[in-house]
Amino acid sequence: MQHVMPTYGRQPVTFSHGEGAWLWDASGKRYLDALCGIAVTGLGHAHPRIAAALSEQAGRLIHSSNLYRIEAQEQLAEHLCTLAAMDNVFFCNSGAEANEAAIKIARLYGHRNGVSKPSIVVMEQSFHGRTMATLSATGSRKVQAGFEPLLAGFARVPYNDIGAVELAAANNPDIVAILVEPVQGEGGINIPEDGYLAALRNICDRNNWLLMLDEVQTGTGRTGAWFAHQLCGAAPDVMTLAKGLGNGFPIGACLARGAAANVLQPGSHGSTFGGNPLASVAALTTLSIIEEENLLPRAAALGNEIARALGTRLCDVPGIQQLRHKGLMIAIELEQACGELVARGLEAGLLINVTADRVVRLLPPLIMTDEQAQILVDGVAGLITTFSTTSATEIAP
Ligand SMILES: *Cc1c(COP(=O)(O)O)cnc(C)c1O
Repeated sequence: MQHVMPTYGRQPVTFSHGEGAWLWDASGKRYLDALCGIAVTGLGHAHPRIAAALSEQAGRLIHSSNLYRIEAQEQLAEHLCTLAAMDNVFFCNSGAEANEAAIKIARLYGHRNGVSKPSIVVMEQSFHGRTMATLSATGSRKVQAGFEPLLAGFARVPYNDIGAVELAAANNPDIVAILVEPVQGEGGINIPEDGYLAALRNICDRNNWLLMLDEVQTGTGRTGAWFAHQLCGAAPDVMTLAKGLGNGFPIGACLARGAAANVLQPGSHGSTFGGNPLASVAALTTLSIIEEENLLPRAAALGNEIARALGTRLCDVPGIQQLRHKGLMIAIELEQACGELVARGLEAGLLINVTADRVVRLLPPLIMTDEQAQILVDGVAGLITTFSTTSATEIAP
C-alpha cells in the first residue's frame, strides 16, 4: 500500500469476489453492498451476462482505435440516443472526461456565437470530477484547494435557486451554458424543487444557452428512469454519463442534441480508449439487462420501499434532520458529522457511504431483492439509532 499514492482514506478491507448485492473479503466475511462502488455496479457483482459478454468480446477484440469504425460503439451510440432522445455521442472513459467534453462543447459553441470568453453557470455543492476543468466547475473548496490557479470561465450560483440564474443571465453576457446535476450526488443527495430543471430549460431557451446535465451519477436507471431528467421532462442539449453505464467496466459518454451535436468536428476532441469494443459491449449489455429485467420500475419501487421503511424505523430517533431519496439515491441527513458510520457499517457487514460530512448515502444496486433490502434497512436503522442515541447522551449535561 505504501507504493500507492495516498489519494484515498481507505477502509482496511479487500474484496475477493461478489455475487449480486453481496461481496466477500479474503477471510470469507460477507458484506451487503449498498454503495455499488459509488453508483457503478447497478446490476450487482459478477452478473453472469456481463461476465459472459465481456469474456466473449475479450476473446475476439478488446481494442482497435477510433481511427476505424467500431460496430459495438455505433450500436451503443444509437441505443443511447434512442433512450435519451439525443442526436449523437462522444465516448470516453470516466465521468470527468465526459464533463470535459461537455465543457469543450460549450466553449466552442460560445466562440461560434461570437462570445470570446465563454462562461458556464455551475452550482454550489456540485461535483463534476477531479481534472482541472471539472474541479474548477465543482462547487467544493475541498476539491479545489491547493490546485489554483483554477480554470476561468465558470459563474457559480446556489443550487435550486432560479432567481440567481436569472440574475446571472441579466448581468453576464459571456454565459453560454449551464452545467448542473439533476440531483446532486457527492454534495449530499440534494434534490431540487419540482420544476427546477424545467425553469433552467426555459432560461437556456430564452438566452440561447446550452442546458448541460451531468447525469454521471443519476443516469443509467439509478433514479428509476433511464435518466433523471426524464422524471421532470426537461430535455438537455448535452448530457454526460459514466458510473453505472458499464456496470464497472470504465466508460463515459457525452451526448448532444441539436446545435450542440454539430460543435465537435474531426480534430477538435478525442480519446484513445473511448468507446473501444470491450467498453461498448459492457455498456450495451448493461442497457439490455436493465430493459429485459425491467429494472427501471424496480429501482423506483425499491427506492420508495427502502426510504419508507427507514422513515418508519427512524422517526423517533433524535439527531436526524431529513430523509430524502430519488429512486435508489437515498440520503439520511444527520445533525452532526457521522463519517465513523462507514467503519461501523463495515464491521457490521454493510457497505454504506457518508458524504457532505453529515449525510448517510445509500446507493443500492437495482437488482437488490426485497429480503436484502430488509437486511439493509435493519442494519442502517440500527447503526444510526446507536450512533444518534449514544452521541446525544455524550452531549447531554
Ligand atoms: C462521480 C461523478 C463524476 C466524476 O466521475 P469520474 O468517473 O470519477 O471521473 C462527475 N460527476 C458526477 C455527478 C459524479 O457523481
